[in-house]
Parts: sequence; structure tokens; C-alpha cells
Amino acid sequence: MAQSEVVLSFQEQWDRVLGKLRTEVGEAAYRSWLKPLSLLSGDESFIRMAVPTRFMRDWVASNYQDRIQALWLEEIGAPIGVEIVVLSPSRPVPKPAIVDVKDEPEVLRAQEREAPVLPVASSVPVEAVQESEVQQITGSLDPRFTFENFVVGKPNELAYAAAQRVADAEAVPFNPLFLYGGVGLGKTHLMHAIAHQIRKAHPEKKVIYLSAEKFMYQFVRALRTKDTMSFKEQFRSVDVLMIDDVQFIGGREATQEEFFHTFNALVDQNRQVIISADKSPSDLEGVEERMKSRLGWGLVADIHPTTYELRLGILESKAEQLDVKIPQKVVEFLAHKITSNIRELEGALNRIVAHATLVGRSVTLETTQEVLHDLLRANDRRVTIEEIQKKVAEHFNVRVSDMHSARRARAVARPRQVAMYLSKQLTSRSLPEIGRKFGGRDHTTVMHAVKKVEELKSTDLEFAEDIELLSRMLES
Ligand code: ADP
Ligand code: MG
Repeated sequence: MAQSEVVLSFQEQWDRVLGKLRTEVGEAAYRSWLKPLSLLSGDESFIRMAVPTRFMRDWVASNYQDRIQALWLEEIGAPIGVEIVVLSPSRPVPKPAIVDVKDEPEVLRAQEREAPVLPVASSVPVEAVQESEVQQITGSLDPRFTFENFVVGKPNELAYAAAQRVADAEAVPFNPLFLYGGVGLGKTHLMHAIAHQIRKAHPEKKVIYLSAEKFMYQFVRALRTKDTMSFKEQFRSVDVLMIDDVQFIGGREATQEEFFHTFNALVDQNRQVIISADKSPSDLEGVEERMKSRLGWGLVADIHPTTYELRLGILESKAEQLDVKIPQKVVEFLAHKITSNIRELEGALNRIVAHATLVGRSVTLETTQEVLHDLLRANDRRVTIEEIQKKVAEHFNVRVSDMHSARRARAVARPRQVAMYLSKQLTSRSLPEIGRKFGGRDHTTVMHAVKKVEELKSTDLEFAEDIELLSRMLES
């Protein structure tokens, strides 16, 4: 295949990923943070993207990198490393090119984060190549993710206590420690905290932390370069191995097999293994039974969704770290409204603080509501059927009452069908519930409407765009 063709398809895939992100994060966030991303280089296992400023890089990396990675994974059906680098606009942005990143040491990548990068693999500094192998496989640790910075509450007290126990124990207390819970609830934070603590108390210990995706990436790379021996050696000589987000291993047999062997070898030698996932061992999809059962042998600690008290505590602690005064009313408002997870809560706080700093005014309830408009909407559990009916009626220039009426003229029947379709897409209401809201119609009528609209969407581009627009308007 010619290079340009490959590049094109990457670009197309990236456009699709962007499109999905756009619907997920809303128009405002998309325009500020995601649209400026440009595709720099990539091969089937590593993608590099550029943003114009360091601030943006940090922001995108902490708020969107996980999603970007997950969507890429969906897109190409294989794990992929994603890196976001800073490339100032004064430099010419190189055309996307396919780079062979296979032979590029990981260490170099870590260093490159600071500087603009051009997709050239030839200028590898000698020292970088000679860095210890540990640094090549271990992921980087976030210095803020410490035990001191972790706010403990009912939902996470077990996981916290278990993590501390593992970090402080002289002998392995339970193996493995399996942490699980929903996204953004502190799994990675706890793992990094364990690593920091052990490294501080025992600098001689070999501690490796990496995501399951990175583990797979390393493994696949070792297979390619036919260097699986040293891959195995690296992992099997560690004192503490932490693998984050192990759910990504599901369905990948060769990697799973390798992971299982590594895991067993370490546990047999009484080395500490710590695993995290978004589900309990028994609920992991695409994972072999023997592995599921083995993963549950040690201590399984789950992190529950946040409570109001925990959210308050976290906001207070973060505000203190940021050294800003946030009115109590605002803190309570946020703790009340942003219930999804801690990452979003933190993101919300950062956003209002950034805004206040930019415009040089203090944080108030009004600005908070304004700045967090989209986020609050998402946490509000989406739109209501009434809102949908109103917007759709406006859009097609019919009366809201026509949504409930028995009139079957095409001019009102089609808008009604569209509103039913959107109600199905944008709310969590069941078909009978939706039917009731449309003048007590039967659920089969709603089903028919959904089918009809889908059909029209696939044949009539203009109509499809209309629907797209409406649903975006309703969601923002
Ligand atoms: P997960 O790995 O479970 O998806 P993370 O560990 O990445 O979640 O946490 C998301 C963000 O929330 C991080 O910035 C982390 O520091 C913060 N966070 C999570 N739990 C806590 C907590 N209990 N106290 C303080 N910050 C927390
Ligand atoms: Mg995590």
C-alpha cells in the first residue's frame, strides 16, 4: 500500500474518533480542546497527536486522553498507545507520516513530552538508549497521586486501607490486591500512591507500574522484534508489579496467556502483584475462567460511587491544594450536581478556577453555572421528553400540542415521529413511557416511529443532518 493511502485512512479514522468525541463532550468543549488536535504520526500500535500549547496538552491529557485511547481502540480493534505533544504553531506542522516507532525507546518518548517533536526516529541520544530497562517498561507516576492527597470516605475506605497495607507491609499481606470500581473513582491514584510509598521506603525495590494496554503494547512489540525472552525477564524479576485497567486484556488470548504466566510466576515467588479493573474478577469479560478465579485469590477491594460527603471533602481538599477560596455555596452546589465521578468533579473545579483567573474575578454561583453549563447538563441525566417535543415542534414549525394530538397529517406526523425517535435516543425512557407522553400512544407506534426515522436517515442526507443537529442542540 502506498504511504499516502495509509495516512489517509489514519486521518479518516481520526476524524471518526473526533466525531464521536464531539457528541460525547458537547460543542463548546469540542471546539476549545479537541478540534485543535492534529494527527502527527502513527503506526498500528502508536499514535501521536499535537496541540499548540503546553497548557492544552496538559488539559487534553488529563481530561480526554483516556477517551481518545478507548475510541481509537474501538476504531482499530487493537490496543494503541496515544501521546499528545506540544507543537507550537510557529513551527511548520509536518504532514502526517508513518513512523516506525518500534525501535524507539520508551525513555525517549518521556523526554520528548516537553519539546516539539518531529516524527524522526534517528536522533536518539546515546544516554537514552542506555537507560535501565526498568524505566523502559514502567509507566510514569503522577507525583500528585499520593496517599496524602487521597481523600478517604465510606466508598473508598476499604480500597484505601488495603492499598496502605500493601505499601507498608514488610511481607506480602495478600496477593494479588485487586482494586476495582467505575471510571474516575481513584484506582490509578491509589496504585501510584502505593508505588510512591514503596519507592520512598525501599528505593532498592524494583516496582513496576503500567497499564494493561501498555503491557500488551510491550508484549506485541517483543513478539515483533522476537525478543520475548527479555520481555519476560523484565517482568519476572520485579518486587512489585502493578497492572492498571486489566479489563483491556479481555479477549486477547496471546497477551492474556502471557499475563497469566507472568502473574503466576510472581505470585509463586511471593512478589506483590496489584491489579485494577473496572469490574470484579468474576465479571471481567473475555477473560479465561482460571484467570478470573486466580485474580480473586487475594484481597478484592471495590471502590463505590461517590457520596455527597466524599465529594464535599474532595472539593475542599482540591481547593486548598489550588490555594483558592471557593464560596461554600459553590462547593455544595458542585458536590450536589457533579455526581458522576471524581475526575469530572476535579475537572469542574479546575474549569471554574481557570475561568476566574482568566477573567480576574472571584468564583460565584452564577459564573459556575455558566462555565459548567455543558457538564451540568450531562450530570442532570440528559433532556426530558417535554424539552424534546418543544424543540422539535419549534424546528418543524408545528404546535407542541400536535405532539399529543391524534392528527395524522404528514406535516405533524413526521415531526412527532422525530420527537419519539429522539426521546428514545436521548432519554432512558422505555417505549411504553414514551408512548404515553405522546397522547397515550401504544409502544408499537413508538417502535414504528424509531424504525421509520432510522430508515429516512439512511436515505435522506438532509434529513439525517437535521436530526443530528436537533440532537446536538438538545444535548448541549
Ligand atoms: P480511575 O483510575 O479509577 O479511573 P483516577 O485514579 O485516575 O481514577 O482518579 C481520577 C481523578 O480523581 C484523579 O485526578 C485523582 O487524583 C482523583 N481522585 C480520585 N479519588 C480521589 C480521592 N479519594 N481523593 C482525592 N482525589 C481523588
Ligand atoms: Mg485509571
